[in-house]
Parts: sequence; C-alpha cells; structure tokens
Amino acid sequence: MKNTQTIVFVVFSIVYYFLPTAAAHPPSDSISSNATYLGNEGIMISGRDTKLLFDPFFHKDFGIYQSVPAEILIGLNKGIAPYDKIDYVFISHAHDDHFSAPSVIKYMSRHAKVRLIAPKQAVDSIVSLTNNEGILSRITSVDLAFGQEVQRIITDNIIVEAVRIAHAGWPQRKNIQNIVFRVEIKDDVTVMHLGDADSNSIHFSPYQKHWSSKITDTAFPPYWFYLSEQGKELIETTLNTKSSIGIHVPKKIPKNLVESDKVFFHLPGETAVVLEANRNQK
Ligand SMILES: [Zn+2]
Repeated sequence: MKNTQTIVFVVFSIVYYFLPTAAAHPPSDSISSNATYLGNEGIMISGRDTKLLFDPFFHKDFGIYQSVPAEILIGLNKGIAPYDKIDYVFISHAHDDHFSAPSVIKYMSRHAKVRLIAPKQAVDSIVSLTNNEGILSRITSVDLAFGQEVQRIITDNIIVEAVRIAHAGWPQRKNIQNIVFRVEIKDDVTVMHLGDADSNSIHFSPYQKHWSSKITDTAFPPYWFYLSEQGKELIETTLNTKSSIGIHVPKKIPKNLVESDKVFFHLPGETAVVLEANRNQK
C-alpha cells in the first residue's frame, strides 16, 4: 500500500461471520471505519456511528460474479450483527447484478429508519411496485444527466456528492444512470463507490474541481480500472483518493488482476480496516 505512514490497512481474509471463533476484529472504538465485502459491488461501510450499504440487494450474478451469500442476506434482513443498524442504502445503477427493487422494498419495510439514495431509474422501479408512503418518504432520488453539476445531499450524519459517470462499455449502455457517490460520514471517513463506471478519463475530466475538493479515504472502483493506464491514473491521481479496493471481481479472478499489485475484494465477508491517522489534515 502507498501511504503506509498515514494509513494502516489490513485485509482480513475471512470475517468472523464465517469463523465465529477467530475474533479477528479489534474493538470498534479503536478503528475509524471498516468495509465489509458483500458480493459483486456490494459493500458495507461501518463508521463509528453510521453504517452505509452500497449495492447490497441483487439477484443476478450472470454465472460470473459473486452473489451475496444467503447468510449475509439473512443477517441484513434480520438485522443481525455485524449487518445491523444500517442508516443508508445506496444504489449505483439499476442493473440486475446491482439492484433488485423487490428486495430493497422488503428490506426497507423491515427496517423503518433506513434511508435509500438511488438513481431515478431505480426509484422508478420501486415506485412501480409499492405506494407505501412509509417507504417512499425515505427515498432520495438522484436524477442526473451527463455533464450535470454535482448533486449534494446533506443529512445530520453524512454529506453525499453524486455525479453521473458513463457505464463501462460506453457509448453502449449510455442510457443507464450510473452514479459515482462520494460519501463523507461526518467526523469520520470519506468513501467513494463508482458503480460500473467506464475507466476512460474523458468521463471524469469535466469534474476535476469536484475530485480536487475533497480527499477520499478509500475508493471502491470496479476492478477494470486497475487493468488500464487511464483507470490507474484516475485512481492513483485524478480522483484524489488515499487508497482503493477493487470490486466487481469475477469469481474466476482475471490473471492480469492477480498479477497486478492492486488490492481487491473477492470473498464475501472479507473486511478491510482503514485506520486514518491524518484526519485533521483534511
Ligand atoms: Zn452495470
């Protein structure tokens, strides 16, 4: 890892969910934040007082990607630690390997305080399935066109900044609203989830001011960023991130990813701990 003096970064091989006796985690008050891998681009960020989920509920793995194991889904739906006390759910885009409207509705109906922040395309499919005001009133729709200025959502405990960045394979799939979320947990860490962003730098350069305006502690790019020069440049320089962990990694890990020196999530339940020593420099 770069910046080893400012970030101590430990990837535990398997979370205690699968090895209850391992007790691999330090007490929660000694860590700033950690990220738990759920599957495909599903991530749980556990801050000191605030928990976020990204792309946790989906049904398709196309036989290639990691789905979220039943044990984790049960933990989320029943609110069993460490998958309890979730504050916000984010959806990057409404593709079937990232989002299932019925599963999100089911989760929100069981967890009365959870708020959802999602692109309008995902919100539209939820609205087509339910008129439950108790759920709909907790949804914030992100409706962005290409090139549109950053959308900010500020709550008591988080600052969300969203931009629309083209889906991988652009200009194919250009109609899908893929959102890159930068989320600051106040007085805690800042993370970035890129969804299925295309790694061509032309999509990111119009937002140079946005990337420069805040340091991201850990970004979660799709692994293909690590396999192109432009993608690496974005992660290492342009996006202003101190560390990154690749996601969307196929079950059969691509050889060139294995051979890269990059950190990526692969096994659901894996946890990465980010200790941030220079927070006051932000
Ligand atoms: Zn996609």
